[in-house]
Amino acid sequence: MHSPLVIGSGLTGAAIAMMKPDVQLYDKARKSGGRVSTKDIEEGQVRFDIGATMFRDKMEVHWLGKVSNYNLFEIWKTNGVEIETKPIYDQHHFYPILGMESIANAMLKGLPIHQSMTLKSIRENPNKEWICEFYNNLEKKSESITNSQVILTLPLPQIFEIFSNSEENPKFNRWFQFLKPYNDYRKTLISLFSWNDWTPNLKSLGIKEEKGIPINTSLQKGENWEYESWEHIKYPNPNRKGSHLLVQFSALFSETHFEHWMDSEKKPTPEYKEMFIAGVKERWNAPAPDAIWNHRWKYAQAQMPLLRREGALTLDSEEFLEWKQLCKETGIMVLGDWLFGSKMERIIGGVHFLIHNEIL
Ligand SMILES: Cc1cc2nc3c(=O)[nH]c(=O)nc-3n(C[C@H](O)[C@H](O)[C@H](O)COP(=O)(O)OP(=O)(O)OC[C@H]3O[C@@H](n4cnc5c(N)ncnc54)[C@H](O)[C@@H]3O)c2cc1C
Repeated sequence: MHSPLVIGSGLTGAAIAMMKPDVQLYDKARKSGGRVSTKDIEEGQVRFDIGATMFRDKMEVHWLGKVSNYNLFEIWKTNGVEIETKPIYDQHHFYPILGMESIANAMLKGLPIHQSMTLKSIRENPNKEWICEFYNNLEKKSESITNSQVILTLPLPQIFEIFSNSEENPKFNRWFQFLKPYNDYRKTLISLFSWNDWTPNLKSLGIKEEKGIPINTSLQKGENWEYESWEHIKYPNPNRKGSHLLVQFSALFSETHFEHWMDSEKKPTPEYKEMFIAGVKERWNAPAPDAIWNHRWKYAQAQMPLLRREGALTLDSEEFLEWKQLCKETGIMVLGDWLFGSKMERIIGGVHFLIHNEIL
């Protein structure tokens, strides 16, 4: 039997590959990581995270009346993965010194990944195998791969699009009906502000360094400028003067301003530029930034995950049993943040648990 075909080399795909290195991984992007994404600009002088920015080390699973506690560092160690981290925000959160994307890359351990391969549709052959139709974006041609087990790790709207491009099959209808209630994602708008010479005087702004935790982040849920991180403190570079502020905007703000957020070069449109200049002045007493770079995530984080957003992953539920049954009966497994919750430790810990208990 072939090893399963995994679509998506984001965090979920990388966690599966870390523990089952014989899977075949396909991704439409040129690189791995998905929503765990680190950008390098100015020829590598400046680094910042445009997706996930930190993770918690601990998570908990409730199953068959038992509670199991997991620690990400231990899971990585057991799988021979080493990631050097620093604390961030509080004593429970961490980030890797090489950027968040390095987590996905470390878990993938240099395994061969079929990048630039977009899954377009799936159909079933008489042997009950799945024929996956890809478009190879580099060679500009279609390619098909057949496998009896397919694991889909994409955000649900992208999975629904693949189902709707595919030949009708009652198995897709069953999945669609099951997944529909979890198809709720928040949007997130991102800006990076860059100053060549100016740096903020954080102490004079009343921001104190906690013991061992660098003063570089603040999270104000619900405020428009929801998450702010001084990325030149997060990723210091002694050869580069100045500073960099990364902002993630709130769900409501992001929903409202999504359409006209940026031009084709990821520069803000003039109305937003004005708003930013006033915003950094008011919040940080900063001069106008020397450069601004924008990004937007349409499916940033699942809002209604089956195993809940916070607290332990509770697997003793009717819904989870139904999910297991569907995976078994269809030969398709659908996994990701809509299942575990949109937190890295829930995804890595959740995948570890499923593999350890031979569910995956
Ligand atoms: C702005 C932002 C901030 C966040 N902050 C945090 C945080 O601080 N802490 C935290 O724990 N979590 C955070 N998250 C959530 C976390 O990033 C996600 O839950 C996690 O990365 C999801 O991983 P995934 O592999 O399930 O999905 P994805 O990362 O979306 O991976 C799916 C992969 O599938 C590929 N793909 C899509 N369509 C196709 C196709 N048709 N064919 C082939 N491949 C395809 C994509 O290229 C992608 O690589 C944040 C997310 C965002 C966007």
